[in-house]
Amino acid sequence: MATHCPYCALQCGMVLREEDDAVSVLPRQFPTNRGGLCQKGWTAPELLSHPERLTSPLLRDPATGELRPATWEAALDRITTGLRDVQEQHGRDAVAVFGGGGLTNEKAYALGRFARVALRTRHIDYNGRFCMSSAAAAGMRAFGMDRGLPFPLSDLGRADTLLLVGANPAETMPPLVRWLTEHRERGGKLIVIDPRVTATARQADLHLQPLPGTDLAVANALLHIALTEGYVDGDYVATRTTGFTAVRRTVAGWWPARAEALSGVPVADLEETARALGTAARAIILTARGAEQHAKGVDTVTGFVNLALALGLPGRPGSGYGCLTGQGNGQGGREHGQKADQLPGYRKIDDLEARAHVARVWGVPADELPGPGVPAYQLLDSLGTDQGPRALLVFGSNPVVSAPRAARVEGRLRDLDLLVVADFLLSETAALADVVLPTAQWAEEDGTMTNLEGRVLRRRALRPPPAGVRTDLEILAALSARLRGSTPADRPARERPTDSTADGQPSEAEAADPCVVFAELRRASAGGIADYAGISWDRIDAADGVFWPCPDDDGPDSPRLFTERFATADGLARFRPVEHRPAAEEVCADYPLHFTTGRVLAQYQSGTQTRRVAALRRAAPEAFVELHPDLAERLGVTDGEPVRVLSRRGEFQAPARLSPGIRADTVFAPFHWGGPARANSVTNDAVDPVSGMPEFKICAVRVERA
Ligand code: SF4
Repeated sequence: MATHCPYCALQCGMVLREEDDAVSVLPRQFPTNRGGLCQKGWTAPELLSHPERLTSPLLRDPATGELRPATWEAALDRITTGLRDVQEQHGRDAVAVFGGGGLTNEKAYALGRFARVALRTRHIDYNGRFCMSSAAAAGMRAFGMDRGLPFPLSDLGRADTLLLVGANPAETMPPLVRWLTEHRERGGKLIVIDPRVTATARQADLHLQPLPGTDLAVANALLHIALTEGYVDGDYVATRTTGFTAVRRTVAGWWPARAEALSGVPVADLEETARALGTAARAIILTARGAEQHAKGVDTVTGFVNLALALGLPGRPGSGYGCLTGQGNGQGGREHGQKADQLPGYRKIDDLEARAHVARVWGVPADELPGPGVPAYQLLDSLGTDQGPRALLVFGSNPVVSAPRAARVEGRLRDLDLLVVADFLLSETAALADVVLPTAQWAEEDGTMTNLEGRVLRRRALRPPPAGVRTDLEILAALSARLRGSTPADRPARERPTDSTADGQPSEAEAADPCVVFAELRRASAGGIADYAGISWDRIDAADGVFWPCPDDDGPDSPRLFTERFATADGLARFRPVEHRPAAEEVCADYPLHFTTGRVLAQYQSGTQTRRVAALRRAAPEAFVELHPDLAERLGVTDGEPVRVLSRRGEFQAPARLSPGIRADTVFAPFHWGGPARANSVTNDAVDPVSGMPEFKICAVRVERA
């Protein structure tokens, strides 16, 4: 059966085969991965029958404090009663919902609807806020639209110059490297900006290794050089953009030697980069988390968008600016209502027309829809406090490992009156819950995902979930029905007949059916920025996915955006002047080193899944702290020796890994592990004022022998 990998935003095509209850993965020719998969994709089915898989709801026993198996009836009763009690005592906003960028479009949509209609709370946000929110905000303000790649991935192979900023696809999405290889075989030039010599940087023709947190200075210097050396496309700037004069003034102050003094990138490398971009017939600039996960992430991305616009790249085949989205449905997950300020179709929740449209689809009065909530970290940090929610429902997320300043977030979760977590494994967050609901996995459910290109794909169920397990949609449908006061659910909704409820809301069976939910999503998104109205499951099946926007059943989809106009009111892209500013926390005598986090090939996000896959555990068994040998010598640390990394917010411990591929003033650790090796114990919770993105990529630490 043809489907897609459950993990990252590349959403590699794969075929699943079931024999004697064992599921195996076969390669599938799909336009993005062309038969390739990484180790995570090949091993994904192992979790379907993993011994640690949850197959029964768990309820915390008040007497012993332990989680114990319970019936669905008891679990749903406990949740419904708990939510009602909290809302009666503290108001509707005392309940919050936290989603994830791995949920299908149908689930992300249903979660937003559940929060706004069933709970009527304004508090919903999701872990995608920690992933692509800075690039999303920068894209919206420059282009009027946020789609990770506004062109098909195959364009990478056509570009003459490719600049990757804070992106390490060789480790995060290895099949994408085939496009980089094709690009280089055609004589293209690959330039990587990264503070570490990553697996991707090793393949580059030129590697710029700036101090973490100085990418924006580098971007401004590159545009400065493009101006002085005459690479700016004057016609394009005049006819397709607005606001260049102010940007020209700002970058005038970023002469290359100034940028070198700040970032450590030699002037010659800055000039070579600007020339490679400025003289190429086709050039692409891509950013990823390294540039985006900063308290100035939106401005940093804007700096590179300014550069791309000045060179006349966006909208031209084989050229442009794009963001490499991270999570499996990071793109679709941010389009359909999980974000605190959004309604489906990428509509703003404070836009009266948008509210009226969505309210009509949902069958509720527009003035009953709550207003905007707060971004993820602000929400998590308010939990259990006098000002914040007292109950939280978590779907597809593990903030105890993935949130910044994680020990504080963990404390907030412990302070809640009610924590409910839906997951298929006992994640670190689920382990704190009052109620844990066992959910279906990717090969057990139908739905759609939207990959990093904005291509909507079909996820297909190979087999039903095991006994005792329900899908997220079934859980949301059952909770909605109970909160409305209808019949308690003692059977999964998929086994019950479809009918409508008296109040015009979908019946429990309808709300649990992904096909019905997608049909409603299409109506809700119609006319919005992310318009899915013309996308049907059949249409996706008939092609290799459908690119949004696609407003009409029989009209074209949109693989390539911005060829004629941008999605702004006047069709022009917006330049915006952006100035470098220091990191939220600078090094000092007590914390003299820069700390940055990232990923390793064999693990995914908070590691709940991949840490339990035997082959991946063997490949990447534990966290580590990467140190330059010179720094290690100064600290008296040897390779493999346990070290403690301390910041103002906490500490973690892991073995040292010595590498000349990192700057001697910078320390790196992967963030996939919890417990004593949790890198996010030390990260900074300062956030970008526009996107709400926390500053994962730089803070001040000291390192000690453990
Ligand atoms: Fe899965 Fe991403 Fe690996 Fe492809 S690159 S197999 S989508 S984890």
